Amino acid sequence: MSDLDPYDNAMKQLAAAAKLVKLEPSIVEVLSEPKRILNVSVPVKLDNGKMKLFQGYRVQYCDARGPYKGGIRYHPNVSLSEVKALATWMTWKCAVVDIPYGGAKGGVVCDPKKLSLGEKERLTRRYTSAISDFIGPYTDIPAPDVYTDPQTMGWIMDTYSQMKGHPIPECVTGKPISLGGSEGRNNSTARGCVTCAREAAKAEKIALKGATAAVQGYGNGGSWAAVFLKELGVKVVAVSDSKGGIFSKNGIDPAKALDYKDKKGSVVGLSGTSEISNEDLLELDVDILIPAALENAITGNNASKIKAKIICEVANGPTTPEADKILSKNGVFLVPDILANAGGVTVSYLEWVQNLSRQHWTEQVVNEELERKMVTGFKAVHDFSKKHGVPMRDAALAIAVSRVAEAIKALGIWP
Ligand code: NAD
Repeated sequence: MSDLDPYDNAMKQLAAAAKLVKLEPSIVEVLSEPKRILNVSVPVKLDNGKMKLFQGYRVQYCDARGPYKGGIRYHPNVSLSEVKALATWMTWKCAVVDIPYGGAKGGVVCDPKKLSLGEKERLTRRYTSAISDFIGPYTDIPAPDVYTDPQTMGWIMDTYSQMKGHPIPECVTGKPISLGGSEGRNNSTARGCVTCAREAAKAEKIALKGATAAVQGYGNGGSWAAVFLKELGVKVVAVSDSKGGIFSKNGIDPAKALDYKDKKGSVVGLSGTSEISNEDLLELDVDILIPAALENAITGNNASKIKAKIICEVANGPTTPEADKILSKNGVFLVPDILANAGGVTVSYLEWVQNLSRQHWTEQVVNEELERKMVTGFKAVHDFSKKHGVPMRDAALAIAVSRVAEAIKALGIWP
């Protein structure tokens, strides 16, 4: 097994959690493979008139606790192993914050930076039609992930609705507000993550006012995390994106960095900052580190060099199991992805509830419910971690896997 294969890592985590909660081997066997894997070919007419074939996936890992739920990723490195792992983590994530969903994930192997808006729309619509028999408001509800956004969700809603003959906003979440999207969804992942960072700082008796932070990945999750950290009095000294990173010991204004990235395509070059590599950013002497890019940022190679006191994972799977062991030994307080980034799926759930009941709540109502879910989830995981003397990741997985196993047992096997 490779330490960098996402599904191998997800299965190693399952094995560890199963051992911790003494799960029956038959349930572990059921959970060792996703319930369904869709592998679809997506032909797209390019702007130059030629046709190009893309590879797409939708993996439905487990629906014992409710309809499948999970984002769709557009990235050149999308692989079946990655989508399977992400679908597994979605299942644990929904269980750990106790929302009634199972877990799924989708992905298309493509470089969205090389596609025009029209090409992206045609790709999205054709991919949606290819998986349309297996998604829907009561079966599997997609959402945005890396390089997909509210506009992508709007196209999915329209394609699905056109195929069924009537508007079905509840078939997808993370939509534009004008289509039934929820207030607060655009920054809910980061809001939930910073709520976890705040609770972690409280648990570790670290004052947030004057504390320092570094954020790797300056997309939806990372940039909003920087904004919310600043609101709590934390000085964000470094941020980065796929082109590199920037550092300023006096602190970086998150809004200015985002504005600069929007105009120039990268945070690199923002005035008043010096350049720093993504690798060096991770090893900065800061209080809080937010990995918000992709998998395998923190591995056995760099974990021992991490100086942050708290790591709060916006990204899915940024830390390998080998790195986990090193960080735990070194006393780093790590809030795992399945808890730290669960704010996004929590507000997705609230969006779905609003859509099904044809309501639209205020941002305050949404944020209060999000805060309640995140604090409850954090407390359950932290209490378990202290009671059993295990790292937060093991505690979160143990709680999640137990809840999923309980549902599988209650359902029984049909026929
Ligand atoms: P995004 O597409 O908005 O942003 C990704 C950012 O990461 C971009 O700034 C990109 O330049 C940067 N990046 C890519 N490769 C990098 C590299 N090698 N080093 C440094 N930076 C790199 O994506 P997002 O929605 O912010 O998602 C980021 C992570 O958070 C993903 O792992 C995703 O699965 C996870 N996540 C996101 C949400 C959400 O609601 N947005 C919810 C849960 C989890």
